[in-house]
Amino acid sequence: MFNNSQILLKKIKEYKNIIISKHVSPDWDTQGSAYGLREIILDNFEDKNVFVVGEVLNKGLREIDETKLTKEIINNAILITVDVANFERVDFEFKDEVKEIFKIDHHLEVDNFAENKIVDDSAIACTQVVTLWASELNLIISKEAATFLYFGLITDSGRFLFEKTNGQTFLAAKLLIESGVNITEIYSSLFLKNLELAIWYNKAFSIAEFKNNNSIAIIKVDEDVFKNIDLGEEEIKSALSVLSGIKEIKIWLMAYKTPFNEKIKVSIRSRDFDINSVAINYNGGGHKLASGAKINNWDELNSLVKDLEILVNKK
Ligand code: AMP
Repeated sequence: MFNNSQILLKKIKEYKNIIISKHVSPDWDTQGSAYGLREIILDNFEDKNVFVVGEVLNKGLREIDETKLTKEIINNAILITVDVANFERVDFEFKDEVKEIFKIDHHLEVDNFAENKIVDDSAIACTQVVTLWASELNLIISKEAATFLYFGLITDSGRFLFEKTNGQTFLAAKLLIESGVNITEIYSSLFLKNLELAIWYNKAFSIAEFKNNNSIAIIKVDEDVFKNIDLGEEEIKSALSVLSGIKEIKIWLMAYKTPFNEKIKVSIRSRDFDINSVAINYNGGGHKLASGAKINNWDELNSLVKDLEILVNKK
């Protein structure tokens, strides 16, 4: 089904040391793809060292495997990147020093940085690509692997709601459920929020600014928010969902500055406007209806919002 399925299989067989890297500011799709793929490799191939690197989702920590890497391992390893379109966003310090790179992704192809790749930009999630690849090759998907993959599948598809959810998505879900995923446990761990998060959602809505006849809504989050609440970046960002599902709002975004980052990160969402066309002009990209960008200051945000207004008004 995928063009390079066999090549990925061959590469995994060929290398003893396999490093899997996520994108910076990880979400469940990249982390679920990385952990799921690690389990699949360990369960199906003998004598492999698999290292997952990068930041750990919502923990502000690095993956422990990074401490196990030596120069020799890195120089003789294949790096498999999951859920990352551009090289700059690959969250691995020594990405230039590996022997070769294989890319598994579902973003629009913007940066051809790997020797070989499986990229399906029609897939709602990278975990969908990993699941269907493993199934195509009849590899064992353990309950543990399936659980990681299912996390990514339901978060990136908005619980099977977003536009690109299709038959392949449900096929992946079917395979993962048949591998023993406990759906209710996953849903509880993802969507049952603690009070602090609920209070933050409420506050996030209250500070939203509405522009262009309410067609654009923005939540601006400065460093103080991160200092004053005990929530991770992904949790803070998840409050963007308070602006979704509102008829008048055609494009909604959150711009946030963490204390650990010089730049301001912007997350943009829409139901039907190609926001990716704007994001790419602001050091960003992603998908037609879900994109991210990185800007240097709050003035640049005004310019980005102006471009989004033009996009909405054009229609
Ligand atoms: P986010 O708003 O961070 O959840 O990202 C939405 C989508 O856009 C995800 O698929 C990201 O991988 C992608 N994305 C986010 N930021 C960037 C960026 N600066 N450059 C390219 N793609 C991005």
